[in-house]
Amino acid sequence: MRTQVAIVGSGPSGLLLSQILAQHGIESVIVENRSREYVLARIRAGVIEHGGVDVLTEYGVADRLHREGQRHDGVYLQWPGERRRIDFVESCGHSVWVYGQTEITKDMIEIRQAAGQQIFWEVSDTAIVDADTDRPKVTFVDADGNAQVIEADYVAGCDGFHGVSRETIPASIRSVRQRIYPYAWLGILAEVAPSTDELIYALHPDGFAMHSMRSEKVSRLYLQVAPDDDIANWSDDRIWDGLSTRMALDGWSLASGPTLEKSITPMRSFVSAPMRWGRLFLAGDASHIVPPTGAKGLNLAIADVKRLGLALASKINDGSDDLIDRYSDDALERVWQSTHFSWWMTSMLHVPAADDPDRDFLLQMQLTQLHNVTSSPTSMRYLAENYTGAVLPWP
Ligand SMILES: Cc1cc2nc3c(=O)[nH]c(=O)nc-3n(C[C@H](O)[C@H](O)[C@H](O)COP(=O)(O)OP(=O)(O)OC[C@H]3O[C@@H](n4cnc5c(N)ncnc54)[C@H](O)[C@@H]3O)c2cc1C
Repeated sequence: MRTQVAIVGSGPSGLLLSQILAQHGIESVIVENRSREYVLARIRAGVIEHGGVDVLTEYGVADRLHREGQRHDGVYLQWPGERRRIDFVESCGHSVWVYGQTEITKDMIEIRQAAGQQIFWEVSDTAIVDADTDRPKVTFVDADGNAQVIEADYVAGCDGFHGVSRETIPASIRSVRQRIYPYAWLGILAEVAPSTDELIYALHPDGFAMHSMRSEKVSRLYLQVAPDDDIANWSDDRIWDGLSTRMALDGWSLASGPTLEKSITPMRSFVSAPMRWGRLFLAGDASHIVPPTGAKGLNLAIADVKRLGLALASKINDGSDDLIDRYSDDALERVWQSTHFSWWMTSMLHVPAADDPDRDFLLQMQLTQLHNVTSSPTSMRYLAENYTGAVLPWP
């Protein structure tokens, strides 16, 4: 098989890249190791920066987002006895949108398949070979057990944190910077109308809690738990009690409902650089992940892919090397900005472990920081600019 761009991974990065390339008249083939049904059911992100919405709109995959997504103009930060709102529009003139990653993925799969996009589902043994030559290839075993080879002009590694693309780049030229946090998020998706008009981020001595939402009828809620905790330890009643306690506020109550999904996700900041090796380009979680506190993972994936799509189009259609040569450095600027913001939000809102000898001091510092961030217009603007993604121009 021959194509112009072989894409490994059919998550948001791979699907959006194929859509952008198609709009520039460039052919691609996607290989994905999960089934279509599995990819369609995966529950993940839900907050999209204004610039991300602009990209999805520009490339024709945001019609349903505009019909069903919710614009959010602010966010609540909370600590015991106090809940304060930061107004994004007042602070920096921008908003974010709440629309599930699951829905974005569904919209893009439908649009790409209707356009005849070739996607190999349920492949195994994916490998990228000869990426440092003029003839890179993706090899894999298809769902029927046949060995396949795609010869391409370029390969896009969009296969997430556990994919094979990043490891294809020799360790000798790769640098990895990371922090593994001493806590994890227990997340639930619940069939209940949100009890709040905006997201709530709450610091409580028992641990962080968060109230997000996916639609008018579905809520997404999170609790800080130990990284080695087992979901089996958390009955629905224990989860709802924990959420109610950590987000308690006089005159406010949390509505509960049937739990549709629950899982524990470890938290890590991770950046692997460079994002290019020869004719292999990495995008999204394949190259970097952030703790979900800043709602940045999906947004970084969209930003990378817009940049990569334009760079490949410029090279393939106009013969220009400029954008592909700058791709890694340009993308990493936004990656580091979002990595810093996610780390900053995470550090401000998650309580230290019970056996940390500095716990009382650190908790007091966090309370003071929350007080400052919600009091000073300059600090509110810092949070608003970063949260909405307005801090750096979108590609
Ligand atoms: C619980 C949770 C909550 C989150 N909340 C937010 C949020 O609020 N806001 C936000 O912006 N981000 C959030 N994120 C992050 C966001 O979901 C990711 O950043 C986003 O999915 C990245 O997209 P991607 O396409 O780069 O990678 P992925 O979504 O991981 O897609 C990679 C694809 O590649 C496939 N693949 C892997 N290995 C191979 C292989 N060897 N061969 C072929 N295919 C392969 C995978 O099956 C997958 O389909 C959250 C993540 C989690 C886990």
